[in-house]
Amino acid sequence: MQIARVVATRATCPRRHVGAVIVRDRQILSTGYNGSPPGQPHCTDVGCLMEDGRCIRTLHAEQNALIQAALHGTSTEGSTLYCTCRPCHVCARMIVGAGIQRLVFFGPIPEGWASEVLTSAGVTLVQINDLLPPLTAQNIELLRVR
Ligand SMILES: [Zn+2]
Ligand SMILES: [Zn+2]
Repeated sequence: MQIARVVATRATCPRRHVGAVIVRDRQILSTGYNGSPPGQPHCTDVGCLMEDGRCIRTLHAEQNALIQAALHGTSTEGSTLYCTCRPCHVCARMIVGAGIQRLVFFGPIPEGWASEVLTSAGVTLVQINDLLPPLTAQNIELLRVR
């Protein structure tokens, strides 16, 4: 989870800094941060592309992590996705579709339908409330890469 935090610092949309890491059997399969797709300018250079109060230029961290795995032919079946915030409903569907089994995230639980999609697919949700969790034995266990 600390690695996801570091990955988030590479985000190229100033509106959000999100990082995601996909792990299986203690191996990092891929990482992602929110940023523009190839061929598109970065929000940090040209400003955000706003529509309905949201920036629509960037791919989300979770999406970029899944795309990276796909580009390299790495299966995400049965893996864990660590993310510095809860997934939106689009990412929730992609996480389910990619066979992710466990989702560890900071902050509030995913909104309405996103939570429903994840739980009905049997994805284990691990919520971490503190932005900087104290290193208690329990939190170390939660943050441990599995
Ligand atoms: Zn942006
Ligand atoms: Zn998303």
